[in-house]
Amino acid sequence: MIFVDVILPFPLSDTYTFEVPDSFTSIEPGFRVVVQFGKKKIYTAIVFKVHNIQPEGYIVKPIIDVVDFKPIINQNQLRLWEWMSAYYCCSLGEVMNVALPSFLKLSSETIFVINSENLSFSELTDQEYLIFEALQLSDKLNLKQIASILNTKNIFPVINGLLNRKLIEVKEELNEKFKPKIVRFVSLTRDEIDFTSLKNAKKQIEVLNYLRKLTPKTKIPLSLLISEISCSYSSLKSLELKGFIKIFSQEINRIEECNDKSSSTLKLSKDQSRAFNQINEGFIDKDVVLLHGVTASGKTEIYIKLIQDALSKNKQVLYLLPEIALTAQIINRLRMYFGDKVGVYHSKYNNHERLEIWSDLSKSKRFSVIIGTRSSLFLPFQNLGLIIVDEEHENSFKQYNPSPRYNARDCSVVLAKFCNAKVLFGSATPSIESYYNVKNNKYKLVELHSRYNDIKLPEVEIVDLKYLKHRKLLKSNFSDQLLDQISLALENQEQVIIFQNRRGFAPVSICQDCGWTAQCKSCDVSLTYHKHSNLLKCHYCGYSHAQISTCQSCASQEISVKGIGTEKIEEELSSLFPKARIKRMDLDTTSRKNSHQEIISNFENRNIDILIGTQMVTKGLDFDNVSIVGVINADNMLNFPDFRSHERSFDLLVQVSGRAGRKEKQGKVIIQTYSADHEIINAVKESDFLKMYNSQLSERRLFNYPPFYKLIQITVSHRSSATTNQAARDLAIALRKSFGENVLGPEYPVVSRVKNKYLKNILLKIDNKSSSAKVKVHLLDLVKWLNQQSSYKSVRVIIDVDPI
Ligand code: ADP
Ligand code: ZN
Ligand code: ZN
Repeated sequence: MIFVDVILPFPLSDTYTFEVPDSFTSIEPGFRVVVQFGKKKIYTAIVFKVHNIQPEGYIVKPIIDVVDFKPIINQNQLRLWEWMSAYYCCSLGEVMNVALPSFLKLSSETIFVINSENLSFSELTDQEYLIFEALQLSDKLNLKQIASILNTKNIFPVINGLLNRKLIEVKEELNEKFKPKIVRFVSLTRDEIDFTSLKNAKKQIEVLNYLRKLTPKTKIPLSLLISEISCSYSSLKSLELKGFIKIFSQEINRIEECNDKSSSTLKLSKDQSRAFNQINEGFIDKDVVLLHGVTASGKTEIYIKLIQDALSKNKQVLYLLPEIALTAQIINRLRMYFGDKVGVYHSKYNNHERLEIWSDLSKSKRFSVIIGTRSSLFLPFQNLGLIIVDEEHENSFKQYNPSPRYNARDCSVVLAKFCNAKVLFGSATPSIESYYNVKNNKYKLVELHSRYNDIKLPEVEIVDLKYLKHRKLLKSNFSDQLLDQISLALENQEQVIIFQNRRGFAPVSICQDCGWTAQCKSCDVSLTYHKHSNLLKCHYCGYSHAQISTCQSCASQEISVKGIGTEKIEEELSSLFPKARIKRMDLDTTSRKNSHQEIISNFENRNIDILIGTQMVTKGLDFDNVSIVGVINADNMLNFPDFRSHERSFDLLVQVSGRAGRKEKQGKVIIQTYSADHEIINAVKESDFLKMYNSQLSERRLFNYPPFYKLIQITVSHRSSATTNQAARDLAIALRKSFGENVLGPEYPVVSRVKNKYLKNILLKIDNKSSSAKVKVHLLDLVKWLNQQSSYKSVRVIIDVDPI
């Protein structure tokens, strides 16, 4: 008798055993099978193991059907799932849930709809036609309905045929389509050029000559043209006015439209070539190389060279980015070199696009470079040779909800090991963990100390707010130094970025008479005032309420708002610089789909003079006309109660500074702060990563934090505050029996109630020398024990390994 252990998308157990009736022959791990689970529900499950050990103590049900003819999940993928479930203390089913897109996870709950964009039903089989007809009548069908229409249980061949030909699709709540990027192009308006009217404009002549030589005669992206011959935007504008060229916008969704820049045109600078060679040398005896290159040192070009190498050896490359927002710029840069070999994969892509990547990759056909966010780790690579983790220090590589709470950067190293691939981490501000791995000889370090083209790093000026306030020299949230620099930039038609790490208008509404503050009903935080919408909003649960004008405690009318958010900065700047075109980029202005990309494009195209933003503006974007970056206030992030807050402040400040002066000209950064003497502020000023690293490392050593200890954060949560406290206390006591002083807490987190659930945290520290695997097994046992006690049945325990 043959049995299979299958993975089902549930949190409780890792695998479930079913019997394979004789009628089904070859089944291997990675196949999808259909099983019944619960009363009447059916699911597709992934085969994890095939064996002949009869389970004891219960009746084994048979599988209903086999979906695939060959594994859809390969061995390396399964090994990654298995590793993740052990490492991050979750079930295989939870990993499966994030790893598989919905069209591979069919179940009774799956709803099928017609793909309205593809109504070519001329080549349907009879069975397919039946489904198609029914869908036209009823809009949607589930598996059971399809089975009854076809009058058979063997429905998957039909469904898969329709899915693969994109005639039907799985209905998704979030079916946002990702809009292709709009790119500005330049092209000549005529073949014959009369240069006489351009006598003295050397640069303009150079532009025309360059355009004339383009083969095939075609357009070129504006940004590429500017970088190729370093001409200014204004000289292009004047050529356009004179009628020589036209500048126009176009969508680039079809890759062919993009001007293919042949691979030979990429010339690395001396410094870049040196780094490139060192990386390759590093790969000889190390699996991971960390590329520490200052902002605008040209790391991307090195990545491109490495990708070319990998492709020439017929290997696939995964290019991981922390956020969707960053992908557009990179896609364009990579497509110039690799054309339609570049595939993109992230959660905003719709099912069709994702299905295309999945099926293409498993056959190793067109795509050999995948750009994606963390979930692209789960794609069916056949021949992965290199993983690039760009901005490796970024927190957003970590998934917090739902479980698995994994860090894609760390998982990439594991996946690469399974695939015999190499990993390159890149950052201007490496994480302390990664840098420590270099010092420990696990990773090889390669450095780029200067910017491409020998542009100087921006000059950083610290403005001491304490001093200014003391002398009564501060009239608004802007120091005179910052205002002067903004004016100067605007005069020179250069752009400005202003960073303020809080959205909304003001984070606190307070009664002047009794001190009452407006709080969220369901969370323990004060509500942020949003002036645009005139609402008070909770940034934790989304609750909102009309602005309150009367104190709810003493009925006074004297409610004032405190603190500074991006909206307030926008308002102040608009009155200070009424002529400037000012835009804000934060969660509130980018919730609409594509709005983020629109703001970035508008800024790139110089339709915005001043961009105000939260940390969204700090991340790896490459703008070429920003001369001033201003930081309104560096203090709240420095003082945030977390062992990483100093490292994070350094990263943010260096990264946002890095947006200044990238092409041709040195930029300037003004950081306003009440802690002008802080060592982190100093390290930022001197752009001294090692200073930050060394001081942080000695603190981490002293207080037993990563990279010397591993952390597991255990969050106990329940509707009742008393139950939460008792359960957390009991769990902590049990943990202390085994782990003694390496258990901290329970403690209230910064926000101790979210969406009406009370939270309590316990921190478990694991010495690097002990086996964290054993600790985790024991921890899971204790959590099980806790949940078995009658009073704690509904207590939720969240385990977060390597919390961020
Ligand atoms: P980083 O990723 O290190 O911040 P980028 O790769 O964005 O830096 O490079 C900064 C700028 O310098 C970009 O506009 C890029 O096009 C340009 N650049 C870097 N290297 C080269 C090169 N070898 N040839 C031409 N331009 C380059
Ligand atoms: Zn009051
Ligand atoms: Zn709330």
